[in-house]
Amino acid sequence: MQIAIDGPSGAGKSSVAKAVAKELGIVYVDTGALYRTVGYFVRSRGIAREDRAGIVSCLPHINIEVRYENGAQHVYLNGEDLGDRIREPEISMYASAVSAVPAVREFLLDTQRRIAETNSVIMDGRDIGTVILPHADVKIFLTASIEARAMRRTKELAEKGIDARFEDVLREMRERDDNDRNRAVAPAVAAPDAIPMDNSEMTVEECTAAVIALAKRAAGGVLSV
Ligand code: C5P
Repeated sequence: MQIAIDGPSGAGKSSVAKAVAKELGIVYVDTGALYRTVGYFVRSRGIAREDRAGIVSCLPHINIEVRYENGAQHVYLNGEDLGDRIREPEISMYASAVSAVPAVREFLLDTQRRIAETNSVIMDGRDIGTVILPHADVKIFLTASIEARAMRRTKELAEKGIDARFEDVLREMRERDDNDRNRAVAPAVAAPDAIPMDNSEMTVEECTAAVIALAKRAAGGVLSV
């Protein structure tokens, strides 16, 4: 079973995907964490976000490993688990910048596909339905109004102990949406066969139930949940 969930940041992809994975007993793959990890490394080297050649020069020095520990995804950068350090707003902007560089997308392609080859997965990102898993059983493009998304992200950051103002989150989210939608490679757009879902007015539980119903339908009733 392969479920692809794409959409802009703050649309609730990870909360929904985590809940679906738990319910269906499949693996949740957060692909944004991979771009964040590359972004983290680039920033730690003091390279500017606009410096594409500098970003590419980092790649040979990056070893990324994804491990699942107690059902949770951990991304190791050169042997170190960075935890919530990759969630900082500054790293979000770096992730968005590095993700527009074709060599970075190429670099992370195999890691993502390999996980899906050996596991049943629900994978979230921006190009899962279009590039990574074009033959996924279910494809969903999850959206919500930008205000709802920025509000959720501000709360999420506060829960992680990261102090951020709503206005700043909103502005950075707009910038990131623009970058992600308008880049030349793997732009964050819905696959032609993706089901659009706007969850501005839905709870995580409602959205999760809707995705599970679609997965069961795609499996032709074979899923025994
Ligand atoms: O999903 P998340 O907000 O953690 O992703 C961080 C950034 O990584 C996004 O803004 C996007 O630029 C990039 N990304 C991507 N393709 C993916 C997942 C994330 O380009 N499949």
